[in-house]
Amino acid sequence: MAERMRTQVAIIGAGPAGLLLAHLLHRGGVDAVVLETRSQEYVAARIRAGILESSSVELLESAGLGDRLRREGHEHRGIYLQWPGERHHLDFVDLTGRSVWVYGQTEVQKDLVAAGTAVAFYEVSEVELHDVTADRPYVTFVDAEGVAQRLDAEAIAGCDGSFGPSRHAVPAQTFERVYPYSWLGILADVAPSTDELIYAWHPHGFALHSMRSETVSRLYLQVPNGTDPADWPDDRVWEELATRLGHGQDGWKLTPGPITDKSVLPMRSYVQTPMRHGRVFLAGDAAHIVPPTGAKGLNLAIADVALLSRALIALLVDGDAALAGSYSDDALRRVWRCTHFSWWMTTMLHVGDDPFDAQLQLSQLRWVASSEAGARGLAENYAGLPIGF
Ligand SMILES: Cc1cc2nc3c(=O)[nH]c(=O)nc-3n(C[C@H](O)[C@H](O)[C@H](O)COP(=O)(O)OP(=O)(O)OC[C@H]3O[C@@H](n4cnc5c(N)ncnc54)[C@H](O)[C@@H]3O)c2cc1C
Repeated sequence: MAERMRTQVAIIGAGPAGLLLAHLLHRGGVDAVVLETRSQEYVAARIRAGILESSSVELLESAGLGDRLRREGHEHRGIYLQWPGERHHLDFVDLTGRSVWVYGQTEVQKDLVAAGTAVAFYEVSEVELHDVTADRPYVTFVDAEGVAQRLDAEAIAGCDGSFGPSRHAVPAQTFERVYPYSWLGILADVAPSTDELIYAWHPHGFALHSMRSETVSRLYLQVPNGTDPADWPDDRVWEELATRLGHGQDGWKLTPGPITDKSVLPMRSYVQTPMRHGRVFLAGDAAHIVPPTGAKGLNLAIADVALLSRALIALLVDGDAALAGSYSDDALRRVWRCTHFSWWMTTMLHVGDDPFDAQLQLSQLRWVASSEAGARGLAENYAGLPIGF
C-alpha cells in the first residue's frame, strides 16, 4: 500500500522548467511538489545552455532571481557573424533595444535551489501519471528510500524533458526534423578570445565561440552524426577551431587552454502538439526540442513556465480556467517562432556537401550582415520576443 501525499500541482522533473514553475507557483500561493529521478547535485552540474534572452532575464528578475545574474552574468549587446575573410558585429541593442546575458543554465539551477521554494523529492523511480483527465489526477513513484508513494494533485506539470513519461500521457501529433550533423562541444579553462559570441560559417563546417565567464570558454564544432569524442584529441579540437574561427584573420587570435569537458550533441527539432491533455500540462523539453544554434532551449522552457504558472494560479486560486484552456495555443505560438528561428540559424550556418547550398548560405549571411532589415530580423528573434508573443 503506497504512502499518500497531497499537493496542488505535481511537477515531474527538476530541471529549469520544473524548479522555476515550483518557484513561480509558490509566489502565487499555490503548493507544488517536484519529483526528479536524478540527484540534486547531478542536475545542478549538467553543462547545457548559457544564453538568456532579455525576456528570460526580465522574468527571472521579476521573480526575485536576478541578483546574482546581474552581478555575475555578462550582458552582451550582440553577436559576431563571420565567414572566411569577414567578421561583422550585429548590435542587438541598436537594432531592437534588447540585449542578451551570458549566464549558465547551471547558475540558473543553483539560484532556483538557493531560493528554497521547491519541495522536491530527488532520486525517485517508477514515476507514473494516473487519471490525467479527472479533476484529481495523481502520480505514483518510488522514493529514494524505496518506499512506494502516491502524490494526489489538482494538476500535473510534465517538465521531465524528452525522455520522461509525461509527454506519453498527452495524445498528440509530433513534428520532427533530424539534422545530418552534430556539435562537438568543449568547455575550457581559458579566458574567452572574444568579447561576444562568434558564429562562424566555414567550408569545413560551422564553429561557435561562446563563453561561460571571464575564465571559462565554451566552443563548438560541427561534426558528422555518430562522431566519437575520442577521435578528437584536444590538439585536434583547438587546431580545427582556429581554422574555422579565423585565427590570424585581421590579427585576431584564438587562445587555447585546458579542456575540462567534451561531448557530442546531436541536432534535432521536435514539437508535440497540443501541450495539454486534461489536467496534464507539458513545459520545456517535454514538449519541444530545438537545435542549440539559436540559443532557445532554456529560454523556451522559461517562457513556457511563465505562461503555465499564470494559468495554474488562475485555475487553482481564482477558479478561472480560461488561461489553462488557452495555455497550449499560447505557448505553441512562441514555440513555433523559436523553432523556425533555430532552423533558420542552423541551415544558414551548417555546411553540407552541396555547393549550391553553400552559395545560398553565403548570400544570406552577406544580406543579414549588410542590410538593416536583415540584421534586425535576426536580432529581434535572438534577443527574444516577449513571453506572450
Ligand atoms: C547536452 C545538452 C546540451 C544543451 N546545450 C544547449 C545550449 O548550448 N543552448 C541552449 O539554449 N540549450 C541547450 N540545451 C537545451 C536546454 O538545456 C534545455 O532546453 C533545457 O534544459 C530545458 O529545460 P527543461 O527543464 O525543460 O528540461 P531538462 O533540463 O531536461 O529537465 C528535465 C528533468 O526531468 C528529469 N526527468 C526525466 N525523466 C524523469 C522521470 N521519469 N521522473 C522524474 N524526473 C524525470 C530529468 O532528469 C531532468 O532533470 C542543451 C541540452 C542538452 C541535453
